[in-house]
Amino acid sequence: MLSYRHGFHAGNFADVFKHIVLAEVADYFTQKPKPFVFFDTHAGEGFYHLSSEFAQKTGEFTEGIIPLLKKQAEFTEIPSTIARYIDFQKNLVENYGLYGGSSLVVSAFSRTMDEAVLCELHPTSVEILKNNVDEIKDAFASEDFLYGNIGKIHVHKRDGYECLQALTPPKSPLPTRGFAFIDPSYEVDSDFENVHQTVAATAKKWNGTIVVWYPVLERKKAKIENLIASLQTSVADGELLQTEFHIPKSDGMTGSGMFMVNPPYLIEEKIENDGNFLCKIYSGSTFNIRTLP
Ligand code: SAH
Repeated sequence: MLSYRHGFHAGNFADVFKHIVLAEVADYFTQKPKPFVFFDTHAGEGFYHLSSEFAQKTGEFTEGIIPLLKKQAEFTEIPSTIARYIDFQKNLVENYGLYGGSSLVVSAFSRTMDEAVLCELHPTSVEILKNNVDEIKDAFASEDFLYGNIGKIHVHKRDGYECLQALTPPKSPLPTRGFAFIDPSYEVDSDFENVHQTVAATAKKWNGTIVVWYPVLERKKAKIENLIASLQTSVADGELLQTEFHIPKSDGMTGSGMFMVNPPYLIEEKIENDGNFLCKIYSGSTFNIRTLP
């Protein structure tokens, strides 16, 4: 079932947290002079129009990216990755009415030697993604923090779970080091099993970082706990890091969660700083991070 459209939720608090964590991973991968490949298994549309009927219907971005852009001015010390993320989204929001999704965030942190493989199955979303990739490359090529920054973007109308398993460990002509982001909507139960199977199989044959997003949602809590517990046994060799950001809300999605296999060196401290900073922006919010045994 492919009814989910990320446009309803783009730029909400869950996106802000997930994209900042993702940006930390991308930032780490740029510290070595060798190129990386980024696999975005559930790429969505690349960027989203905040004036679209989708975004306007829920208004979720008004409680996510907007308060961050507004309140950041009150702080003199902002963690460096968040400062870069803010710079980049501020330009998009204020000058173009857009919010940049996962592939755009990663490309903002990339270099021309790096590459991205974007998978999207929804027939409309994949067409929009293709157009957005082209459009932004042409229109914003002069601004060095947009898609123009990354060397090559490969867009596939393809099952992201299958694609990641088929293309890892990455072989030439792709860069051979890199990281993957798995960002399903979990609206169908098969996502839980697919995430488990894909992460377990991929981690067995590849030492790249695998980042997975999940919603903190009462009615999915047991399934999420199960997924993480089963991964703890099947990825015994890789370190597993888990982090959650919670907002004060009594129902629906109350938090944004991520776990990471083979987390980059020292990333825990950086995410901890980021999470603590975000708690100052969103009043009443809480944050935690831990390495799982
Ligand atoms: N990562 C995006 C948001 C993705 S939303 C961002 O951060 O901006 C999840 C997307 O996954 C939806 O667009 C949905 O159409 C797509 N999708 C669902 N199942 C998929 C699958 N098996 N393979 C690839 N894409 C899938």
